[in-house]
Amino acid sequence: MRATLHNMFKNNELQKTVYIRTFGCQMNEHDSGRLKDLLLERGYTFCDSLEFADVVIFNTCSVRKHAEDRVYGKVGELQKLKAKKPGLIVGIIGCMAEAQKDEIFRRLPIVNFLCGPADLDNVPGIIDRIKNGAGRIMYLEGYKSKIIPAFSRNRKTGETAYVKIMEGCDKFCSYCIVPYVRGMERSRPSKEILEEIESLIKKGAKNITLLGQNVNSYGKGLQEKINFVALLTKIDKLTSIHPRGAIPGAPSQGREGDIKISFFTSHPKDASLELFRAIRDLKSIVKILHLPIQSGSDKILKRMNRKYTVAKYKKLAGDYKKIVKSGNISGDIIVGFPGETEKDFNDTFNIVKKLQFDAAYIFKYSPRPFTKAAGFKDDVSLEEKERRHTLLLDLQRSILLNKKCQ
Ligand code: SF4
Repeated sequence: MRATLHNMFKNNELQKTVYIRTFGCQMNEHDSGRLKDLLLERGYTFCDSLEFADVVIFNTCSVRKHAEDRVYGKVGELQKLKAKKPGLIVGIIGCMAEAQKDEIFRRLPIVNFLCGPADLDNVPGIIDRIKNGAGRIMYLEGYKSKIIPAFSRNRKTGETAYVKIMEGCDKFCSYCIVPYVRGMERSRPSKEILEEIESLIKKGAKNITLLGQNVNSYGKGLQEKINFVALLTKIDKLTSIHPRGAIPGAPSQGREGDIKISFFTSHPKDASLELFRAIRDLKSIVKILHLPIQSGSDKILKRMNRKYTVAKYKKLAGDYKKIVKSGNISGDIIVGFPGETEKDFNDTFNIVKKLQFDAAYIFKYSPRPFTKAAGFKDDVSLEEKERRHTLLLDLQRSILLNKKCQ
């Protein structure tokens, strides 16, 4: 019996329990979901506890240094488990695998494989190869590909689901690593997106979020003539045919208007009045616009290569509020960008006060490899970044409190 078990283990029959931990944004959540479906198709099961896992996968984020440090810490903690369970396979996938490839293999000998965000379909094959005795595997740089793979037909879903409509970014904001790890912008054909949404609705999804680094660039490079607003219009039409998920086979009938579509992220340079009118007029579209401002100083915006001014942002936010009367708006802000003086920070503070965001995501700047800003002098001290961060967080909290009391 022991020998049989041993042989089965050797033949990969029993090493089928996977632990996946996801760091970072919704794009990563989406990618982990896709990977889970692929592994399920191959007979893998999943566990929530590391000690039961045969394969441990960290889907990682490189947008901030802090997120990378956490991954180094978490993977380092696996040493003991690996000592007890030498057959344990450890993989790091996602943006950090691209950005930190050599460093990860150097610092973390327990890591068996690295796989970039555009190569995740290869993960099951990589695991097989490692089980069959391959050494450490680096599977990267598929981000140079033009194709975003479609979701598996067997995709599982709850009421909430993400649909990737485009990936990558051509904007090259000077602080951002995304173009280097997720590649240039590429869009999925609308037919494929609509099929995926319809299939999700059939399976019971009601809150569907469309994902892209800059959704407003949707359609660039596709053969069909389509932009983001045209895509939203097609999706809205689909949800008006199936307003309650009322497609034969849908698990519940729900109520009319139950299907809600949201999206992010929009870049202020590309956001348009046409988009705001679509948010206002299309019934299924959630009236929330995420429009990162990043700084309230034109000097800093220029250094960030954001390609808009504070005045342009204010005008856009004002137009949005006029057109989408009950619409919400949220923003991202970076404090302590190289060269940010007290005056620049005060400008940011004042614009946040003026714009009264319904949500604001506030980050402390940290240099990222490959980026232009990594070559700038990181001249705002950590203490000062923390002070500015706290001031803005407190401001945003008071804005939200006031809104609740109104
Ligand atoms: S728009 Fe700028 S911040 Fe956003 S993903 Fe592209 S490069 Fe990064």
